[in-house]
Amino acid sequence: MTPKLYLIPTPIGNLEDITLRAINTLKNADVILAEDTRTSGHLLKHLGITKPLQSYHIHNEHQTVQKLIARLLKGENMALVSDAGTPAISDPGFLLVRECIKNNIEVECLPGPTAFVPALVNSGLPNDRFTFEGFLPHKKGRQTRLTQLKEEERTMIFYESPHRLLKSLEQFVEYFGADRQASVSRELTKVYEETIRGTLTEIIAYFAEKTIKGEIVIVVSGK
Ligand code: SAM
Repeated sequence: MTPKLYLIPTPIGNLEDITLRAINTLKNADVILAEDTRTSGHLLKHLGITKPLQSYHIHNEHQTVQKLIARLLKGENMALVSDAGTPAISDPGFLLVRECIKNNIEVECLPGPTAFVPALVNSGLPNDRFTFEGFLPHKKGRQTRLTQLKEEERTMIFYESPHRLLKSLEQFVEYFGADRQASVSRELTKVYEETIRGTLTEIIAYFAEKTIKGEIVIVVSGK
């Protein structure tokens, strides 16, 4: 194993969704950087992996990144995991990857679970071209972003929390029109997984009557 930074995707729900290479790379790492050491600790225990865990999250990444670079340059193997899915996708990781590249440290992101790919494919909306928007800004910059997206012709993918789902869908009606086709995937790979497809109005009607729980990806057709 060449010393480098490995980014290891972990399951987004179903614990069977981890690759053999991900398991082997975690086993061979000198240290595992984890967004939440307790969450990742449970997964590692389930996989029978005992390796030192170090926390790496948005609140300490700026302080720790140079120290991690120094250790990588000395030859330590590091594996970065987030709570779920692919690190650096709406999760910490970008900063460390950028610094590794600046310092000629090899970076390898393993392919694996991420929420937006199954949500996009399940939507049934065109997926030959798409734009991943992640979480919309909550306040500042939100309207500007939505105004820009009014003209977007590619399928758009958004991450959203359950308590903001209806508010976002209603804003999408305002900016994209009530008849725009969309889908909402909830709890992907988990017991209560569901994907609701239809116009924005139809999807709002479905969720308006429910207590909305779980993790959510919204996919909206382009213009
Ligand atoms: N790194 C992750 C990835 O690769 O998808 C994303 C992390 S981001 C902090 C968490 C968001 O991803 C959730 O709010 C939700 O929008 C989406 N997500 C994660 N797991 C999901 C699941 N099982 N079903 C639906 N959406 C999910």
